[in-house]
Amino acid sequence: MAKTKLNFAEELKKYGAEDFEACYNCGNCSAICNLTNKDDSFPRELIRFSVLGLKQELKGSIKPWLCYYCGECSTKCPRQAFPGELMMAIRRWQISTYDWTGLSGILYKKTFAYIIAFILTIAMVLGISEYLNLTHEKIMHYGHLFEMFAIGGVFTFILLPNIIRMWYWSIYKHNIKFNFMHYFKALGELFTHMFTQKRTLSCEDTQENKIWWFEHMILVLGYLALLFTTVFLDWFGSKNMIVVYFGYIVSAVVFIVTFDFVIRRIRKSSEKTTFTHPSDWFFVIWLFLMGISAFVVRLFIDLNLLENSFFIYYFHLIVLVQWAIIIVPFGKWSHFLYRSFAMYFDKILKIK
Ligand code: SF4
Ligand code: SF4
Repeated sequence: MAKTKLNFAEELKKYGAEDFEACYNCGNCSAICNLTNKDDSFPRELIRFSVLGLKQELKGSIKPWLCYYCGECSTKCPRQAFPGELMMAIRRWQISTYDWTGLSGILYKKTFAYIIAFILTIAMVLGISEYLNLTHEKIMHYGHLFEMFAIGGVFTFILLPNIIRMWYWSIYKHNIKFNFMHYFKALGELFTHMFTQKRTLSCEDTQENKIWWFEHMILVLGYLALLFTTVFLDWFGSKNMIVVYFGYIVSAVVFIVTFDFVIRRIRKSSEKTTFTHPSDWFFVIWLFLMGISAFVVRLFIDLNLLENSFFIYYFHLIVLVQWAIIIVPFGKWSHFLYRSFAMYFDKILKIK
């Protein structure tokens, strides 16, 4: 049993946990947390589960997702056990248990696996276009097709089965009896959290937190709008000036906001940016690269420069493929989806 506990503590540290075994169970963290209450006691309870190596209890718990990582508990912990970072690490570990492919766990634990995956995607994109001897026009055509199939494929074959597994462990396995209609009644919660993340506002009543929340919401909307514009309105091929200008605006929103997020992480301007896991870096940097490369590709099309500088489209396509098949299904992006479903499941269980 002692060995199991030790192994699990070491395992969680690979997902970004700090020295949480230093916790002496004082409860300061739960007392300080604005998001906890008598029904959802955290983070202390989850720290105990982690220290005792109670994997099954952690695997089926929605509570790690109810934390929005303000970091307030970490600053007030008298033992420097960093409970906020532990919550983040537990969420990464949970994702690795939801993911049927096992790739999330490998990527979270081993940064070099990310590097290898990125290199393989570069080889794949360049290799395919070279092997098929594709013209620039064809490469852009297939790039657009890839965007459409990647969205459907990643959601259908990876994210949807993983969400079902999450539901199985966090709802079905608990054998809690509730009315089937709760699934419909709680749907609003799913979309509200997906698009607004409004619970962040209850986390900390500071100006910085409000700005962070606002930027985050703008980024989510900008990202979704960019996705819609490039995939469904064919931004790179469109002659409609409304579509063209709209694409410029939303891609600029994406790279400007993510640039700010990168700077905050470099400066470590708050507790929530003090510890940055490699998966966090890959998320913000790739989102930034995607927004700025899309912007430049469209600009080069409008200035008739793309034909002679086609490397910029290759760059964009490689970033896009890495984003779509690595970061979205197995990296930080998936937090967005799992958290929204966790809020949905939580609401289902709480409807009276
Ligand atoms: S993590 Fe820190 S604040 Fe929380 S119970 Fe343990 S020692 Fe206390
Ligand atoms: S990081 Fe913030 S929201 Fe999460 S448990 Fe700590 S105080 Fe609560």
